[in-house]
Amino acid sequence: MLKLSAGAVACTCLMLSIGRPPIAAQQPAPAAVTAIRAGRLLDPDAGRILTGQIILVEGNRIRDVGPNVAIPPGAQVIDLSAMTVMPGLVDAHNHLALTYKPEPESNVYYYTYVQESTALRAIEAASNGMQMLAAGFTVVRDLGNNGNYADSALRQAIDQGWLPGPTIINSGIIIGGMGGQFFPPPEMAKDHSIVYPEYLEADTPDEIVKAVRQNILFGAKVIKICVDCKPYGYTADEIRLFIREAAKAGMKVAGHVQTAAGAKNAIDAGIWSIEHSGALNDDLHKQMAAKGIWRAGTETPTGLQGHPVSAEAYARTVAGLKNAYENKVMAAFSTDADYFVAGKTRGELCLEFLKPWKDAGIPNADIIRAITINGYRIADIDRTRGPIKAGYFADLIALPGNPLDDVNALKTVQFVMKDGLVFKRDGVMTPAAFFHAGPVNGWRIR
Ligand SMILES: [Zn+2]
Repeated sequence: MLKLSAGAVACTCLMLSIGRPPIAAQQPAPAAVTAIRAGRLLDPDAGRILTGQIILVEGNRIRDVGPNVAIPPGAQVIDLSAMTVMPGLVDAHNHLALTYKPEPESNVYYYTYVQESTALRAIEAASNGMQMLAAGFTVVRDLGNNGNYADSALRQAIDQGWLPGPTIINSGIIIGGMGGQFFPPPEMAKDHSIVYPEYLEADTPDEIVKAVRQNILFGAKVIKICVDCKPYGYTADEIRLFIREAAKAGMKVAGHVQTAAGAKNAIDAGIWSIEHSGALNDDLHKQMAAKGIWRAGTETPTGLQGHPVSAEAYARTVAGLKNAYENKVMAAFSTDADYFVAGKTRGELCLEFLKPWKDAGIPNADIIRAITINGYRIADIDRTRGPIKAGYFADLIALPGNPLDDVNALKTVQFVMKDGLVFKRDGVMTPAAFFHAGPVNGWRIR
């Protein structure tokens, strides 16, 4: 069987190559070199600014950085000498293929899900991805509620080279006990499978293994589970089974948690990240810090039009974040953005989520670490993306002002480079170089 399918693949390749120019004629030209003059270069790790730096980018990688880097003849020079250049931003929890709205669904995502096809949602996700990138987010962890794998389709389209977007670390379908996060009546659950494809139901060890494998097969890069969305939430042993199965494919497990008991099970099992912070308290934070478990708290700010947060709820959110910070919990900037606020792009909406971090009294340098370094780490891509250092992918942004002095400077991104290509310049999106009529980076990227 294996032999047969391998033969079939070889045969297809042969057919595809008929009528093509010889291989030598297809060799790509030498990678273009770009030199960026950075007036100020922000290093989030050190929490400091270096002035007068030159960043050399070759192809999609950073080749060299420093004050005295020689600019090769013929290199394109980009002058950002009046700007602060820094690594791209990370939203550790978003839902790019879900946008619920006041009209027609009264901000209830059940209706978004029954009214919008996965195909439409995938196109919305492509738009949202570009809006994120324009705001400076070069990495997004996209954690489910994306219909029938619209998130995988978006990641594959970006990775293969069809269109611009952030690096997507996507979860595929959220796995949960019967019902997922929905409360379907018996008719809808049994006769219409209304829960799928928003949730994959997995109630037994066999179903858990199969659900993880289904998501891996269909393009997930992280496994997202509903730890305690129902009273029959997962035990620590069941979560361990998720972790073991995901690890076979090198993937981590992110857990939606909404109760203290659920958080305890997730922590005991050694889950990679806890999503949402409503159930976390001082004791649980201490346990998370001791075990090195990530916190993607998805702290919602006040003042978002159409999405009121009560003063009490916001005070709890801010106090929780402050407590996590004091306990040295590993915390990543995260939004849970999945709705539309009139007048704001998805990226602009996400940057409003800086407010609770400021209100928690967290120093700007640490907020910047949470939205850069910690984002790369929770997304598990920190070995290839993040620092502006030789060898890393060339993802970087530039803005006037200094975010170490005023973190709201992050809301004024004027320049975005992704994988060595300029996506935004002088405040205007310039995405032409990203659009291709074929999978220029390789159709095998899945
Ligand atoms: Zn979410």
